[in-house]
Amino acid sequence: MSTHTLPIGDFLLTSIPIWPGRMMNPTQLFLDQTIDEIDAAHAKFPYYFGESSQELKFTLNAFLLRGPNGNVLIDTGVPSETQPSPLMSGLAEVGLTPADINFVVFTHRDFDHIGGGTLNGQPAFPNARYILGHTEYEHFCHDEGRAEMFANHIAPLENAGLLSVVDNDAEIVPGVHLYLTPGHRSGATSVTVNLRTTHHGAIILADTWHSAIQVSLPHWHMMFDEDGHAASATRRQVIEMAERDDLLVAVPHTIDHGFGKVRRDEHGYKWDPFTE
Ligand SMILES: [Zn+2]
Repeated sequence: MSTHTLPIGDFLLTSIPIWPGRMMNPTQLFLDQTIDEIDAAHAKFPYYFGESSQELKFTLNAFLLRGPNGNVLIDTGVPSETQPSPLMSGLAEVGLTPADINFVVFTHRDFDHIGGGTLNGQPAFPNARYILGHTEYEHFCHDEGRAEMFANHIAPLENAGLLSVVDNDAEIVPGVHLYLTPGHRSGATSVTVNLRTTHHGAIILADTWHSAIQVSLPHWHMMFDEDGHAASATRRQVIEMAERDDLLVAVPHTIDHGFGKVRRDEHGYKWDPFTE
């Protein structure tokens, strides 16, 4: 596994693979979809599937944004039992150490996104300001099912004075902002780069979709979505914006480095992956 880097204006956006690609059974992810609907999707969109309609390709990426005002890590993957972790190996591949990270953005309160932000109970990025949108932070504080996760992965950052709870549309560095995308989690914030300023814009998603098959089928909501209707509404809004503004889109659980663009087709929208 290796990293993949694309330029966006003055920035470099790198996809860091955390998991090797794996297969998930779509009937266990998209509970509202019938077998017939999944078979039809497999016939129409084979790119997203393995050998059969029972195998949907799945993965996990973290993203690194390097620019004139510092290095921003967007999500941190899962805690790793092996060291160096895939996250640290990915950073090393582009010549960075943990001390070189200036900001860590957590897009939402899930284990596979915040788990690598600490190492042995300590901040893994000692010089970084860790960023969490205020809605997600407040809901995380009251999320009983994730109390242990908060204690293990957020409290050490607070204790070290490294956590900043910010507005849901806060600027991280010039040109880089949080962008509220509720649904998967109530306060999930994606991250935008150069939004509405140039033709070199990007958005790094907070699990606004998982498989990019949901660009063509935005009503398919993942069983892990906290509010399926809100997730679907947000997904449609982001799909329309990404197509209209020709954004590079970076997606944590989508295959082929998670990079692609949203295009129109005769049925609505489709995912155009960067497979190079
Ligand atoms: Zn996730």
